[in-house]
Amino acid sequence: MVAGIVGVARDFVERKNVQSRKITYYMPISNELKTVLALRPLGLVFDIDGTLSPMARTSDEARLYVGVVPLLERVRERAHVAIMTGRAIDDGAKMVNVEGLTYIGTHGLEWCDGLPSLHPVQIVPEALNYIAPGTYLLNLVEQELPRLPGVYVQRKHVGGTLHYRLASDSETARQGILSILEEPARRVNMRLREGKKMVEVLAPLAVNKGQALRRFVEHFQVQGVVFAGDDQTDLDAVLEVAQLREEKKVVGGVSIVVQHADTLPVLLEHADIVVQEVGGMVDLLREMVDML
Ligand SMILES: [Mg+2]
Repeated sequence: MVAGIVGVARDFVERKNVQSRKITYYMPISNELKTVLALRPLGLVFDIDGTLSPMARTSDEARLYVGVVPLLERVRERAHVAIMTGRAIDDGAKMVNVEGLTYIGTHGLEWCDGLPSLHPVQIVPEALNYIAPGTYLLNLVEQELPRLPGVYVQRKHVGGTLHYRLASDSETARQGILSILEEPARRVNMRLREGKKMVEVLAPLAVNKGQALRRFVEHFQVQGVVFAGDDQTDLDAVLEVAQLREEKKVVGGVSIVVQHADTLPVLLEHADIVVQEVGGMVDLLREMVDML
């Protein structure tokens, strides 16, 4: 199970420990994590893409790693579990499709206690004014798609994402998207943010995964919290875990970063635990569930 990743992880850990002592990835499970998992109420929060599902050619083709669903079904009996994604909530929930979890979409803009197909979705009230401008900007790109080969549009309740990972020339596609959006986005007061082969159209609100994590902690009054993510937008949540610990809002908190070839160094720097690829995350999740 975990043996395959030990070598890489330990090399990495030892190097990091010399510098900062921040990465504490010890097999089979770190003491720090063990302590947090013993706390009740306990909250476990997972990003989806690159964390519970390997990156796919398109976001529609992404699927959860084998074995994740039964683990989530087991863990929901013993902890408050949230799926927190940059995807629109319905889209993310459809991928996971486990009832009884909290679903948080669009980096914290949307929240649902259970599957959004069965329960009402709450949208952060201050975001409601940005639904129309978001639609307008995505329409602008959609009209230009014939001259943007490989680009596709993913719509959300508020704003959406333009993906260009299928484009043969990424930089031209990126420039094409930005040249269509930059001026109109300024005019309608929407924010553009770049991620892995994508440009996101966002409401100009200070909503991020860090705040969403805090809301989750307060909502369920959890004493221990574990967050796992892999990308730039997860950094807010990784930092928030440390902040919640410092403020003593939780008794214990641990952040896990899933490392891929292109993971941002800043994420690795701030993570409490680093695992290699989604397979490493799922191995760790299995161990965590066995301990609960
Ligand atoms: Mg991710």
